[in-house]
Amino acid sequence: MIGSKIHCGCGERAVIKKTNRLSNDCADLYCECKNKECGHSFVVSLYYSHTLSPSAKATENLAVHLVRALSPQGRASLQQQLTLF
Ligand SMILES: [Zn+2]
Repeated sequence: MIGSKIHCGCGERAVIKKTNRLSNDCADLYCECKNKECGHSFVVSLYYSHTLSPSAKATENLAVHLVRALSPQGRASLQQQLTLF
């Protein structure tokens, strides 16, 4: 959430007082409104929704696993095809 702003229902900005990380892609943010006259404290849930572009790491990992699963002939054939690029 670095750089993103949380707003209270009153329209004022809120500060994140505490982050309770539940997993790598899910966290509860404990927020407090900066408007002293409001004083609202609340929890915002932050969670992973869906992928727009897959992680390069995941794609690389997948490719390595696929190549490992190939037969020696399959690997040789792939190597030959890759030299064409
Ligand atoms: Zn407020």
